[in-house]
Amino acid sequence: MLVSQLVEEFMSLAIKTGGWMEMDRLYLKNRLLGIIEEPSFDALPVQEVKITTGDVLTDLVEVLGEAKGIVGEELKTLEMRLAEILTPPPSVVNAIFAQRYEKDPIDATHYFYDINQANHFVMPPHKTELLAETDFGTWRFAPVHREARLADAALRSYYPVCLYCMENEGYEGHRFYPSRQIQRMIRMNLLGETWNYQFEPHSNLKEGCIFTSEHHDSMPTGQRVLEQLLALADIFPHYFIGAEGGKFDAEGSDMVHGRYVGGYEASALKNAKSIATAKLPLFSTVTAELLAWPVSTLRLSSSNGKQLVQAAHYIMASWDNRQTDVSLTIGSDQSISRLPMVMRKIEEVYHLDIFFVDLSKIMINPLDLMALMGNQEIDYSETTLSAEELIAKYQQELQDLDGFNNQVSEALAFLSAL
Ligand SMILES: [Zn+2]
Repeated sequence: MLVSQLVEEFMSLAIKTGGWMEMDRLYLKNRLLGIIEEPSFDALPVQEVKITTGDVLTDLVEVLGEAKGIVGEELKTLEMRLAEILTPPPSVVNAIFAQRYEKDPIDATHYFYDINQANHFVMPPHKTELLAETDFGTWRFAPVHREARLADAALRSYYPVCLYCMENEGYEGHRFYPSRQIQRMIRMNLLGETWNYQFEPHSNLKEGCIFTSEHHDSMPTGQRVLEQLLALADIFPHYFIGAEGGKFDAEGSDMVHGRYVGGYEASALKNAKSIATAKLPLFSTVTAELLAWPVSTLRLSSSNGKQLVQAAHYIMASWDNRQTDVSLTIGSDQSISRLPMVMRKIEEVYHLDIFFVDLSKIMINPLDLMALMGNQEIDYSETTLSAEELIAKYQQELQDLDGFNNQVSEALAFLSAL
């Protein structure tokens, strides 16, 4: 392929994802000439160029970098400037998303994900992922995105306050803050509040995303969490929606930005088998099953979303009361405790999985929901264990966190006493 052909391909991609129209093609070409600082494309080599990745942005950056001798930071800047051409302004993304959503929510999220992949806001998933057959179905292990994790955990700044804040959209970044020029967010109304839907740059899941409040507010509490999970499952019926668990600082300056995670579910949890059922006399439309999973997990199912929320809230309040550690109760030390949960909607039936973990044993805040779902990230470089040993070690770690000491009878006794 010639450089000029690659440029044409890039412009076609820009027209597809960037909100441009066919009429803009010449204009885009001239913008590109400006970015690469050439009077015309004739100055570039006319011989065949090797296309290696099939990803237009990567290929064009590589070819231009080589032809013009650009390397390092300068090459990164070139990539960012090209990526911006593939990224429409927030108003355009939101308008097209809304238009598509009207007809088909799946098509709308695909559209948004395509932009985020084309402009490289979302990093390609790891190819070295390890799928492991376990007693609990197929589990996924992926190398840890260590840099991303560190940044996520530690990053607090004056502006934007954190990586989840709305003010990131289009922010250029600086030495101490990552570039967010090509980040876009979809606005939505979540039970009367403005929330945003955005992709997670380092997720190992297809369309792995985050839902964040427009304000840098702490996590919602109590029944509100359940109501929001339910509403999100209605808005994105093809995604799982998860709430991380742990102890959250409700007041301090270091508060965690309220958020949920979601995406296409690629975990064995969804297909986990039932090992026992329980009756909930107060909530006749809700079925309750304990799942075969390394940590005690209760699945509540109902086509009546309102009653599902009430049942889950009742169960979690009872569980909170059962804990002898008073520091875990709301208000005692300005912290809020919450069990991790996953909501999904399958053919008009809501399913809510609640993980009964002993929160007093959780040192890291918040508890990694992906790990609980069986999508563990492993630092392969630091382990000499075999896949089987890794799985055993990891599942043991989950068992050690169990809120019912791995006793099904204890869990059933709790449920029957409700
Ligand atoms: Zn924030």
